[in-house]
Amino acid sequence: MPATPLVYPFTFGDRSMADLLGGKGANLSEMTRMGLPVPPGFTITTQACREFLASGVIPSSLTGEIESALRELEKMLDKKFGDPKNPLLVSVRSGAKFSMPGMMETVLNVGMTPEVAESLAKQTGDAKFAWDSYRRFIDMFGRIVCDIPPADFKKIEARILESHSVNSIQELTVDGLKALSQALIREIEAQTGKDFPTDPRQHLISSVEAVFHSWNSERAQIYRQRERIPSDLGTAVNIQSMVFGNLSDDSGTGVAFTRNPATGENGSYGDYLDRAQGEDVVAGIRNTMTLVEMNEREPKAFQELERVMSLLENHYRDLCDIEFTVERGKLWILQTRVGKRTAEAAFRVALQLVDEGKISMDEALSRISGEQLGHLMFPQFDLAGQVTEIARGIPASAGAAVGEVVFDSRRAFDLARAGHKVILVRRETSPDDLVGMVASEGILTSRGGKTSHAAVVARGMGKTAICGTESISVDERANLFTVGALTVYEGEVISIDGTSGIVYLGALPTIASPVTAYLEGKLDANSPQATPVVKAVDRILQHADASRVLRVRTNADTPEDAVRARILGAEGVGLCRTEHMFLGPRRAYVESLILAENEEAQRGIIAEMEPLQRGDFVGIMMAMSGLPVTIRLLDPPLHEFLPNIAELSAEMARAEALGEEISPRQQAVFAAVKRLHESNPMLGLRGVRLGILIPELFKMQVRALVHACLEVRKLGHNPMPEIMVPLVATQRELLYLRKTLEEEIANTLTGTGQHFDIPIGSMIETPRAAMTAGKIADHADFFSFGTNDLTQMTWAFSRDDVESSFLPRYLDLELVPFNPFESLDQDGVGLLVRIATEQARAHTSDFKIGVCGEHGGDPRSIHFFHSLHLDYVSCSPFRVPIARLESGRAVVLANMAGPASSST
Ligand code: ADP
Ligand code: MG
Ligand code: MG
Repeated sequence: MPATPLVYPFTFGDRSMADLLGGKGANLSEMTRMGLPVPPGFTITTQACREFLASGVIPSSLTGEIESALRELEKMLDKKFGDPKNPLLVSVRSGAKFSMPGMMETVLNVGMTPEVAESLAKQTGDAKFAWDSYRRFIDMFGRIVCDIPPADFKKIEARILESHSVNSIQELTVDGLKALSQALIREIEAQTGKDFPTDPRQHLISSVEAVFHSWNSERAQIYRQRERIPSDLGTAVNIQSMVFGNLSDDSGTGVAFTRNPATGENGSYGDYLDRAQGEDVVAGIRNTMTLVEMNEREPKAFQELERVMSLLENHYRDLCDIEFTVERGKLWILQTRVGKRTAEAAFRVALQLVDEGKISMDEALSRISGEQLGHLMFPQFDLAGQVTEIARGIPASAGAAVGEVVFDSRRAFDLARAGHKVILVRRETSPDDLVGMVASEGILTSRGGKTSHAAVVARGMGKTAICGTESISVDERANLFTVGALTVYEGEVISIDGTSGIVYLGALPTIASPVTAYLEGKLDANSPQATPVVKAVDRILQHADASRVLRVRTNADTPEDAVRARILGAEGVGLCRTEHMFLGPRRAYVESLILAENEEAQRGIIAEMEPLQRGDFVGIMMAMSGLPVTIRLLDPPLHEFLPNIAELSAEMARAEALGEEISPRQQAVFAAVKRLHESNPMLGLRGVRLGILIPELFKMQVRALVHACLEVRKLGHNPMPEIMVPLVATQRELLYLRKTLEEEIANTLTGTGQHFDIPIGSMIETPRAAMTAGKIADHADFFSFGTNDLTQMTWAFSRDDVESSFLPRYLDLELVPFNPFESLDQDGVGLLVRIATEQARAHTSDFKIGVCGEHGGDPRSIHFFHSLHLDYVSCSPFRVPIARLESGRAVVLANMAGPASSST
């Protein structure tokens, strides 16, 4: 069997072959096929790159294949590689399956030698052009193939410019260009300790190797990680005959977009630079021309460019990004791809294409994403005026926040309650900081990355955050941070931009996002005030709602959150965490409960808690009248409501040493803290276990709920509560507790003449519950997957601990492809979800199943839940529109993939 070829001419492939030819190569082939003016060439496959990276040597057959492809190219163009009489020059271009703009390398003008330059000078009558091209080759070859630091070349360049008394390379004479090339070669020889190779064939092969290697450059790796591009794909290499934009005054090079990629405005958009080659346009060395200006200068080439742009856009049926070169008035197309765009442009362009009859609404929906909708929802800073940037960190959670800096979470809570807007600044955050995080406008940390506690929690809350701002040093004791010579004290105002990661001094004005105004019902999409992006979001979201099967509920613990979520489109509450009602000022109740000396005292305190709880339930069920509200009974370990054991021990020790008096209450608290301390609270006394040990607590919650229902009904609304039991591991727990709860409901209703059907369901968040879901289904009216805990227990990852310790390293090493707390691990945790779902549906075919937990708002996870035919997802209010959109996309994408690929 002959080995599969590692080299294909541009005349061979098409755009569907990006796996093998890379995106750039596949699109060059496609454009060649379309008959567009593409300089001929050939592509070395990604397979060749993978073999090279695995073995460290060029695959044995590759040199021969390159040689024969080169001969074909020579024949076609009637030129010869390395032959001064009629030289063929080529570029050696990287190009992976997924576009990674600027991340890998390209070498231009390969085939250049002093002899070739000499003869090119004669042929073109332009010696400066010829020697400039030679100089460019040496420069790129030195940096990319020989790894010379660009700064070293810059120094040499500066020296030569000075000795020739000019300011730019453009002004150098032929002698100056020759001198510069010579100086660069000497530097290369000094640094590599080898003679500079003179054989152009060797230049070609070394360039190919360097491009292969650039797949593993640091920046390429970082980019791939961020974009979730697998690290084992490798890059293809394109060898393409050169065209020269630096040849004459009627030559130049440029980039163009068929529509504006920043705003999505219709109409072409681009930059052109005369007498330029390759990256000059984007390098900012000279001011570029607009396409309108280019039209004045090169009308023929411009007309041709317009024709090509419209051909490409109709062909790809999407916004295209194009690289072109004009050589002596003739247009050449060097690259195209479906262009990257901002969130705003994505929505607008998709809808324009629908209105132009080019794509369907389904396609429009498939081309935008929930993440992009999220971006459009954040408020924005108005950067038009004077701004003072003081630091840059990792943009961890988008948004624009302004506030007084505060360094302590308690203090943040207190100040916020007193009406201040604050920004919590910490070295890093821990679960203890939650109150402060909730209370503040935004969070700034000097340590930790995108998966740090601060980042994950902030994103979950839709709160602005910048992490890992290493240039600032935070002194939490002195209540200040320093950056360079500047010191910022508590109370001073800063502005943080979670989209760019930039920290500003002072308060920047913000502009509310029009999309948020629309989603919150404050802006009508049909009104004249509605911007084009608002209209686009409106129509696409409507289509998503009409397409989706999944219902979208929200996680809401307060009436305000419930109101907000309902406006944003929530179809009920999927998770109401009752413990949040006992944090903050109400913590004292739980403390007293724990300290209660006897059952009677306990009952007394519980009786005091009940009306508070009832009030919360009333507010939430009023907001969600006519829609289901799932109340989760108290879940966390009791000690979470008590002071921290380490801090308390230190305090007691200090008081003792100073001979201060310790009150009996303090002593009791300390004793209780010690008694309730658990080594593994996550796996200790919590959830259903707490309800079994202290039944009064759960009974109180159920009573409060029933009373709340009565009250809501009396006010003319329609309460639809559901009770959810956390942390169930065996059906017996549920059976045991269910009896107690049902009795309590019946007792509470006795004599009222009213009746409520309150379903009692189980969370599925322990692996055992998932594996035995069929049995648990005997005693549950519904299931809700608590995917946070399920992930913790399946991986044996304590979330709050691993995210600040080893998970970042795991991500770096690609031991886990992504943070399993952000996006559901479908192979592991997802398998448990699948098993439990199958068992429940085998038990009762329409058994109701939902998801609460952060994954309910994560796009990829939503698509997975859709594929399992779950009934609903529940997410934070802010993510409700995103979940609506993604639930619709899940349907559309599954349809597009066809029935065969919907099962994996
Ligand atoms: P990147 O992927 O970083 O954009 P490219 O391979 O596209 O790198 O090339 C870098 C620059 O060189 C681009 O501006 C491209 O248009 C230009 N270029 C590449 N090949 C040729 C060629 N054969 N003739 C003229 N210019 C070229
Ligand atoms: Mg390019
Ligand atoms: Mg849980």
